[in-house]
Amino acid sequence: MSNKQAYCEHCDTMQLTTVEAHEETFTIRGTPITVIAATRFCSVCHQSVFDMELDDQKLFLAYSQYRERIGLLSPDEIRAIRKKYSLSQSAVAKLLGWSPATFVRYESGSLQELAHDNLLRRFRDDPNWVRELLTRNGDKLTDLQKRKLLTALNSMETAIASTAGSIIAALNDIYIELLRASETTPLSYQWVLDMVRLRAEQAGVKLSSAPH
Ligand SMILES: [Zn+2]
Repeated sequence: MSNKQAYCEHCDTMQLTTVEAHEETFTIRGTPITVIAATRFCSVCHQSVFDMELDDQKLFLAYSQYRERIGLLSPDEIRAIRKKYSLSQSAVAKLLGWSPATFVRYESGSLQELAHDNLLRRFRDDPNWVRELLTRNGDKLTDLQKRKLLTALNSMETAIASTAGSIIAALNDIYIELLRASETTPLSYQWVLDMVRLRAEQAGVKLSSAPH
């Protein structure tokens, strides 16, 4: 990282080199992205010198700013999607019909294709589609990989069903309470609002007056 002898292509020989913060603009898919990052310089001609580790870091920093600007998933988010389904990198690649290297690259910071980003979001948000992929491409997975994925899918379904169940139960309680109260007195909007808010609070739900 620090001062060391390195090959300088401008001097065409080994020179002492130093590392300094340097501003550089990359054009990523047509968008200029400027980053300030550690860069290796020749101490004799003061030109920048190739340094694989630093140059990679700089490029990944530019990718990360581009991702934020365009709204692409980060490598951590991509990894989290795979872990959500208890899948290895090779298993998720097989399900999506990608090469295993593609997924490894995305998780280690390479910039994903926009179409792949959309597929990853669908993979994250739509367990039913993942189940379809398992039916279609499951024969490419090992038995262990299949079992792990099925376990993850089943526990997701249970969680969704139990959330849906409690929402329906809460709605029904509110309906019954309104029905009973309306049999004795005409209801005011205020009374209804207060009651719904109270029941939501009891269920641990924070209601908002802004529409979703
Ligand atoms: Zn030089």
